[in-house]
Formats: sequence, structure tokens, C-alpha cells
Amino acid sequence: HPAILDWPEQPSDDLPLALWDADAIASATGGTAHGSFQVSGVEIDSRDVGEGDLFVALKGAAMDGHRFVAGAFERGAAGVLVSKPVDGPHVLVDDTQAALEALGAAARARADMQVVGVTGSVGKTSTKEALFAALDRASRGAAHASVKSYNNHTGVPLSLARTPARSHYGVYEMGMNHAGEIAALTTQVRPHVALVTAIAPAHIENLGSEENIARAKAEIFEGLEPGGIAIVPADSPHAELLAGAAQAVGASVTTFGLESAADIKLLESVTTRDGGSLLTVQVRDRRLCFTIGNPGRHWVSNALAVIAACDALGADLGAAGLALAELQGLPGRGERHVLPVEGGEALLIDESYNANPTSMRSALALLGAVDADRRIAVLGAMGELGDHSDRFHAELLEPILSAQVDQAILVGPAMRPLAERLGTGEVSDLGKMPRFTHCDDASAAQAALDEIGLANRDAVLVKGSNSVGLAALVADLVDAP
Ligand code: ATP
Ligand code: MG
Repeated sequence: HPAILDWPEQPSDDLPLALWDADAIASATGGTAHGSFQVSGVEIDSRDVGEGDLFVALKGAAMDGHRFVAGAFERGAAGVLVSKPVDGPHVLVDDTQAALEALGAAARARADMQVVGVTGSVGKTSTKEALFAALDRASRGAAHASVKSYNNHTGVPLSLARTPARSHYGVYEMGMNHAGEIAALTTQVRPHVALVTAIAPAHIENLGSEENIARAKAEIFEGLEPGGIAIVPADSPHAELLAGAAQAVGASVTTFGLESAADIKLLESVTTRDGGSLLTVQVRDRRLCFTIGNPGRHWVSNALAVIAACDALGADLGAAGLALAELQGLPGRGERHVLPVEGGEALLIDESYNANPTSMRSALALLGAVDADRRIAVLGAMGELGDHSDRFHAELLEPILSAQVDQAILVGPAMRPLAERLGTGEVSDLGKMPRFTHCDDASAAQAALDEIGLANRDAVLVKGSNSVGLAALVADLVDAP
């Protein structure tokens, strides 16, 4: 693979490789440099600024970043990007948001790299991280990716602006709350490969229907480079809509699927003893085996998407295989903790970062698959479901029964329709009704969990929309002496 042979030597001293200097920032943004400086990172939150960073003072609706310029310098910023003159080294521009986008565009233009854009209703960050791990291995450390879920109108240009000039691969997550947002992001990212992980009723409040969500995600193909490749989930009821949108902009389409016919097709999947999966996958004319470190059916899907993207890029699938085997749960997205409890250990699955109807089902299925004596589900409300909220919450009863949950703690007013269904004691052939409590907020949930008391061989799933605040409950459990 030529990318590996081309990998340049690292400089021997321990100085940070300069990401930008003042002149390059000025010429990228059309601003003027005041003072000469070099930066090794870019930040938009002054609290995250470290030694040698560039701080970009964005003007938000509530907050003006220019108020934090002095603080950024105190934390070690080497320079700042501002629209008002300040004391200290800076580049002065008219509009810092536009300047951040221009810096992102300059980073995208100067790196001779292959770019993947990742969107979807669920699994963006999971897939982005796994794909980054695969490409970073394939290029011996020359891949770059967005951090966390930096996927919006500031996160995407910021992630682009952070791209080292010598990157061989770039992976960027793109998210949306409204139609039109992905279109604006993908024209900045200009991906060679655009991947849609899955379509699910997240943000349905703003978009009205799942089909509209699929249409909004399909905007990612509008930014594809000429000859680009669209990667589409074959099992989605919206696969045809997505493929059609890709073809309409002249892209070729690669599909991945667990159930349906697809270019990258799961043939067989076996669950390993530690909860991961062993997959046999048809990758066009080859039949390959992969071990997936992370548990759950949704990780099989994300892994197929990663394999499809690596295949589309011509990246080494052997390296991808090694990376997929080493995957571990991300904080808030399936990370597992073993908690010492009286007489032994309990398992905690931390899914506190977000929740929608699809990811609730995959997480409950995981809980059901765990080898445990007692299954406890702490389920926080799912946000942004609009008029559909009651129905989607009530419909969690079936996956809860399938997972053989023994104790459910439901958190937040939106959980009431589910609590009502559980309260009727309605008998279902799917399984026995769990004991349950319904409480208002995360601290009440914590008290309910304390009341239950964790014992040896308990498994606890904590999942809810970030706004419910269950991350604090997880932190308490993990930090408990
Ligand atoms: P956000 O919009 O918040 O950035 P995201 O699309 O980046 O979300 P992830 O953070 O990767 O999504 O995953 C969120 C949760 O969704 C995970 O904790 C997991 O439970 C579930 N999940 C991940 N991948 C899939 C998938 N392919 N299908 C269904 N559920 C998934
Ligand atoms: Mg994300």
C-alpha cells in the first residue's frame, strides 16, 4: 500500500509539530497577523485550551468568546483568532465563525488525504472511532478524526482545522437536528467516501417522519468528491431512498447488511465468550473472518460499515481486522465497568450518553445477553421525540421483557406511558414483568438503586438521553469506595 511507504519520518525532537503559523492562519482566513506564532492545536472552548493552542473566539447566541481571550492566554494559548484587537499574538478577522470554516477548508485542501464523512441517526461516533482505529493502523498513525461528537456547524470546521498536514486519512462525523444542516457540513468535508450508519427516529420532532430523516442524512452525498462512493445500510427500510440520492449526484453505491443482500454482507456471526462477535463476511468476491471486541448486534452493523469504508478506500483490511478486534466500549456508549460489591462483582454497562428508540433496543438486547443473576435497567427518558414521545416510550415494554429485566428504574416524566404499561401488570408471552419504580430525576434514580442494593452477579444497564443526567449516577457507581 503506497500510503505506508510514503509515511514521513517523525522529527526527532519533542517539539509539537506546528499545525498552523500566524501567516498561514491569516492567509487561510483573509485576516491580518499581529505577532508571529505557531500553534499545535485549535480550541473553541477556552477551558480546553492547552500549551501551544490557537483559541478561536466564537460569538454564540449567549456567549462571546472574546470574553475568554485572557483566560486562553493564561492557559497557554500561543495565539488567538479574533474579530476585535486584543493584547497578545492574534490574527484579526471580520467573522470568527467564517474564519474557522476557512481554516477548516485550508486544512482540507492542503492535506493529500482520503476523507470519509460519517452520518446516521445512531452509531456515528461508534463507527467513526472504529474506522479511525482501522485507518490509523493501516497508515501507521497517519489518520485523523473528529473527537467525541464534534459534528455540528462548529465541531466539523474545528475538526477539519485540527487535521495535520501530513494526514493520509481523515474521518469526520456529521450530525443534524434539521434539514439542510448536513448539506452545509458535507461541502466543507468534501468526502471521498460518505457513510450512513443507520436511519432511526432520532430528532423526529424537527423532521416529522423517518423518511424525512433519511432525506436529511442523504444530503451527505451532495458533498462527495467526483468519483466518490456512498455507503448505505442495506437493512434500512430507507436503503433505496439513500442509494437513489447517491446515484442522483453521480456517486457509486456500496451497501452493507446483516440480513439483506449487500456488497459487504454478513454470512455468519457467533458470539464469543467475552461478549464480542466472530464474523464471517462476504467482502465482494472474498470471504473474510473478523473478530469484533465490542458486544452487541449494533456493533456487528458498525463493523460492517467500517469494513465497507476500508474496502472503498482500498485500505488494508488486515489492519482493520486487528483494530476491530481491539475495540472497547466508549464512555457513555457501552463502556463496561466491573463494580466490586459485597460477595463479588457486578457489571455496569454505561450507556448514559444518549438514547433513542433504536439504541434503547440494542442496549436492552445487550443486557439480555449478559450472563447475570439479576438484570437491572436504569432507563432515562428519550429526548426530541416530539408528538411521538408517548408511543416510543410505551413501546419499550417489549424489549424490556425480551431482555428479562428483573428491576427497572424509569427516570423522567416522559417515562410515564411506559410506567403505566408496566403498572397494569399486563401479562405478556414475551416474559415476566419486572419490578419497577418511576422517578423524576437522576438523583431519585440513584436513591432507588441504593434501595435495591447491588449484589454479586448483578448486571446494571444505565441508559438515557444525556439531558437526564445519568452520567452522574454512573460516575458515582464507578467512584464508590
Ligand atoms: P450522537 O447523535 O449523539 O452524536 P451517534 O450517532 O454518534 O450519536 P453513538 O454515540 O455512536 O451514536 O451511539 C449511541 C448509542 O447508540 C450507543 O450507545 C449504542 O447503544 C447505540 N448504537 C451504536 N451504534 C448503533 C447502531 N448501528 N444501531 C443501533 N444502535 C446503535
Ligand atoms: Mg456522535
